[in-house]
Amino acid sequence: MILQELSEAIGVSGNEDAVREIVLKAIDGHATDITIDAMGNVTAIKKGTGKNRPRVMLDAHMDEIGFMVTSIGSDGLIKFTNIGGIDERILPALRVKVGSDQVPGVIIWTPIHKSGGNNNTVKLSDLRIDIGGSNKDDVGGKVKVGDRIAFDSRYMELGEKTLRGKAFDDRVGCSLLIDILQGGPYPVDVLAAFTVQEELGLRGAKVAAQRLNPDVGFALEGTTANDVPNPTAELDDDIPPNAVCRLGGGPALTVMDSSLIVPPHLLNFVRATAEKNKLPYQLKTSLGGGTDSGAIHRANAGIPSAVISMPCRYIHAPTAYLNRDDYDNTLKLIQAILKDIQWDAVRM
Ligand SMILES: [Zn+2]
Repeated sequence: MILQELSEAIGVSGNEDAVREIVLKAIDGHATDITIDAMGNVTAIKKGTGKNRPRVMLDAHMDEIGFMVTSIGSDGLIKFTNIGGIDERILPALRVKVGSDQVPGVIIWTPIHKSGGNNNTVKLSDLRIDIGGSNKDDVGGKVKVGDRIAFDSRYMELGEKTLRGKAFDDRVGCSLLIDILQGGPYPVDVLAAFTVQEELGLRGAKVAAQRLNPDVGFALEGTTANDVPNPTAELDDDIPPNAVCRLGGGPALTVMDSSLIVPPHLLNFVRATAEKNKLPYQLKTSLGGGTDSGAIHRANAGIPSAVISMPCRYIHAPTAYLNRDDYDNTLKLIQAILKDIQWDAVRM
């Protein structure tokens, strides 16, 4: 597992180079037909040992949410916009890294003793990034308009089970896909796609799926767990009513989201495979958000697609948490799917 290296790499959408380098190095010698397409997707094929089996696309996106420099003020403060979905309320006082030189900065906002209670709504347009420069020329020598900005966050292992880091959405999917390619062989052809610009609308996956033209597709994702305390509940009421899935509950299988309805026969096959192998799983029915499978299932003449997600807390924020058992169980489930999948799981 090379999750730490993947998590600490910076790959804000449209500038995934650092992640791509890690992926290419990790899969070298473990797959054939390794290609970087015009958009920057990395695709690779791991030939199967079986005959007349469906060709299975496994997808993980390399990009992460972040920001982009839009202008530099005469005061040396940087104005910026978001790349992907970010809750502005979490931003004030966060540390960031700006541009390819990873210039350290802090997101600034009105200090509490100046806000006077009238300015309590955090708006992206009111925020700036301070890299310690005193004027436009000074700052302009270090960063430029269009530079990507990423959260400054270190990977950590908290005890035996909890892993903490940046961009688990979707570096955890990349890590799983690398583990799959480094293992095997499998009875089916595995068509791997490490995609770009998922966070901006599933852009890379569409192109990758059209070219690979698989018989079935799976997006491997890090998804929001939202198993956080219910603020209106009593302290000892630990059942969050709005959890999407839970850390430690096993891989989350999407039933439907805003981009996709998983074909029932495909979902049933995945559930039966988990049960046969005594692997825990949970069903994700939250309608918010989409994944690369939203693009894959509409590529070419249609490709049956599903989503297998790792539950993550605090997603789209500088530090997400995930559970190591979930990782191991998700990997085992994907391996079992590759071993067992036949045409009846794929065809209507
Ligand atoms: Zn994602």
